[in-house]
Amino acid sequence: MREHSLSIIIPLYNEEDNIDPLHARLEEVLGTMNTPYEIIMVDDGSRDGTAARLRELAQRDPRVKVIHLRRNFGQTPAMMAGIDAAEGDILIPMDGDLQNDPADIPRLLAKLAEGYDVVSGWRKDRQDHPLKRNLPSKVANFVISKISGVHLHDYGCSLKAYRKQIIKDVKLYGEMHRFIPIYATWQGAKVTEVGVTHHPRVHGVSKYGIDRTIKVILDLIVVKFLDTFAQKPMHLFGGFGLVSVFIAFLMFLLMLYLKIFADKSFIATPLPLVVTLFFLMGFMSIFMGLIAEILMRTYHESQNKPTYIVDKTRNCRSKD
Ligand code: UDP
Ligand code: MG
Repeated sequence: MREHSLSIIIPLYNEEDNIDPLHARLEEVLGTMNTPYEIIMVDDGSRDGTAARLRELAQRDPRVKVIHLRRNFGQTPAMMAGIDAAEGDILIPMDGDLQNDPADIPRLLAKLAEGYDVVSGWRKDRQDHPLKRNLPSKVANFVISKISGVHLHDYGCSLKAYRKQIIKDVKLYGEMHRFIPIYATWQGAKVTEVGVTHHPRVHGVSKYGIDRTIKVILDLIVVKFLDTFAQKPMHLFGGFGLVSVFIAFLMFLLMLYLKIFADKSFIATPLPLVVTLFFLMGFMSIFMGLIAEILMRTYHESQNKPTYIVDKTRNCRSKD
């Protein structure tokens, strides 16, 4: 088997005092491992001395690749920039604030070697604010696990390891870097988790508060929707529409029944309104489903996105 190479990917926003200690810790761990590696540091539009520190570091150590983003885009886009630039065949994102511990990297790799495609870190003893961060995160993790059907304890841990082929087609939006293991599982990857060490932040400040949990839950709805209905939106919109039309029909029968057998005038009950409402809603929803179907086809066909993913082929000629 071909030797692996690692790409460590680190998004940084105002982390000037963390860069050198983190680099030293990484050198210490990676130096003993005998595996080729690169460290990709992405400066996400920092306003402190991060850019200058990275410039010096890149001069000192040619294995450190630096990407400066024009402005602050956020952790997920910064991570994406690193992923796009990565040349290794194993990608390891981590935080740049020394809360993740480089010493955990060999354990992630050992799990990959067992045949997994994605290994996710699990901060068993998380060192963040108990009420503002740890509790909402526990709730969010529970909800994500239930809704996605991919059971991990800690989606939000940045420290993970991916085989390159799993991650190269994934596009990340919003807070979605935490959902990569979910996408990956849906695409047939083998995913597992290992406990990792988590340290309290020493230098700099956290960029997040409790509002992050809400954004994560909203993103989850999008992810779930895309997976379940992106290929067949008509099943969602049309299903709702049919139920609505059916309710309209039942109400219509009830209205007739009351008129004929109870001698109630049509306008004596709100039923005509209810019938019209449900009927309209039902038809609108079915039409919306049809429009979504057209959008979905445009999406797949304009980008030549297949509706399936091939793992391996045998005796097939490659098309490229
Ligand atoms: N980060 C970033 N861009 C941002 C916010 C954060 O690149 O807009 C980086 C940050 O520098 C750190 C990582 O993302 O390396 C995690 O951020 P933070 O430590 O603030 O999050 P927490 O650990 O509190 O969840
Ligand atoms: Mg942190």
